[in-house]
Amino acid sequence: MSLSYRKFATACLSLTLAINMGLANTVTSANTALAAAEPNKLFEISDSQYDEAVKLLSNYIKIDTTNPPGNEKLGALYLQSVLKENGIDAQVFDSAKDRAIVIGRLKGTGKKKAVILLSHIDVVPAQASDWKYPPFAAEIHDGELWGRGTLDMKGMGIMELAAMLAIKKSGKVLDRDIIFIATPDEEVGGTYGAEWFAKNKKELVKDAEYLLNEGYSIESYNKTGNTDGKAKYWGVDYAEKSVLWLSLTANGLAGHASMPMSNSANNRLIKALAMIAENPPKMTLLPAAKEFFQSIAPFEASPLKELYADIEKTAKAPSKETEETLSVDKLKYSMLRNTVSITVLKAGYKTNVIPAQAYAELDCRLLPGVTPEQFVEEVKKTIGDSSIDVKVIEWEKGDPSPYDNDMFRAIKEANRAEGASAPVVPVVVPWFTDSHWFRELGIHSYGFEPIEVDADHLATMHGKDERIPLAAFRRGIDRLVRILTAL
Ligand SMILES: [Zn+2]
Repeated sequence: MSLSYRKFATACLSLTLAINMGLANTVTSANTALAAAEPNKLFEISDSQYDEAVKLLSNYIKIDTTNPPGNEKLGALYLQSVLKENGIDAQVFDSAKDRAIVIGRLKGTGKKKAVILLSHIDVVPAQASDWKYPPFAAEIHDGELWGRGTLDMKGMGIMELAAMLAIKKSGKVLDRDIIFIATPDEEVGGTYGAEWFAKNKKELVKDAEYLLNEGYSIESYNKTGNTDGKAKYWGVDYAEKSVLWLSLTANGLAGHASMPMSNSANNRLIKALAMIAENPPKMTLLPAAKEFFQSIAPFEASPLKELYADIEKTAKAPSKETEETLSVDKLKYSMLRNTVSITVLKAGYKTNVIPAQAYAELDCRLLPGVTPEQFVEEVKKTIGDSSIDVKVIEWEKGDPSPYDNDMFRAIKEANRAEGASAPVVPVVVPWFTDSHWFRELGIHSYGFEPIEVDADHLATMHGKDERIPLAAFRRGIDRLVRILTAL
């Protein structure tokens, strides 16, 4: 795979996109209220455990792991020291100079197979002069901890670590080993991180059945208005779309531009691309997408409420108006079809010369189960010109994980403990995370960050002023403990 592909494909890049697509998450105080209602079903870390977790996150944020260059080894050594201080065996492996992976294991009874808690150590660059507070100082203001990586994804990494430490401290031995893994290099594709691990150290996770990683979160109403920040649903991504890159080449005769040729390479390629642009792939409703849209319909406003509630009808023959309405929320819209974006165009070198060749590239994202062969046929049919040469230049298969197993049941149990007013729903995401390296090892992998974050906060993930609301951070640790205990 090329580096450029990886840059396009990372999760974090795309999460920034998600903000513009109507994700409206915010912090709720529902947990506290519900804790009173069902005390026996809820786990809550103590104040001192919470203080310790905030300290861990602050220290971790202060370690600058901006990628490039990364320097994640300092982060890996820090996490290793915390694990070891708490009596959990942990190893650090160098994948390149100053870059390292940490892996620790909390032993269970071994009755069931292990579960991995995955995170990445690297962060994207931060332009300090744009920030209200410095990006690597971990300052706390108004109940929020500021810094690059607080949301993407050192915050989740420390939630995972704190949940593991809380379980260890409780003395309860779970049926599954919990494996903590933090990788470098996720933000530019994982060559020195998850990919390196999957190729060189996979024997360390050969007993693992499940994995939790970054991904979707708890989508909530805006805090303003009468809904006051309540969670809509817990989105758990069980699949990432496959990546298919295609090249289109038209060959023809070169000639002087003073004597036009209607079938020139340029003219034929332009017609082919126009067909692609005007005829997007038809909607395809996956069973998981049906469940997703029907589950979230009650939480949406009209007209999306009605369109989602009857998603089968919606997807069958959408009018132009329906397409426009659905496309406002691009993230959800992407779950309904394979997509094509025309990206690279190359042809010609002089105004008065008709070139002999015209070339284009397409970035296609395919739903689980669609093969490159199937999609190439579809593209060729859409173009309707056999003189255009269509070639596959990149293919990355995004395998889905099941969404009716112990992991989903455990997440649903944690959700029920809070009253289950916001359903747990399966999501297909259009981006790639480190999860795919582990799916390829046969480990069922899920993207779920058990915290509420509003749209403003989500927008900071690859932007400025990234910060995590500490109340959500605390609830996230509790939820992870509940999920792991129920697994
Ligand atoms: Zn990330």
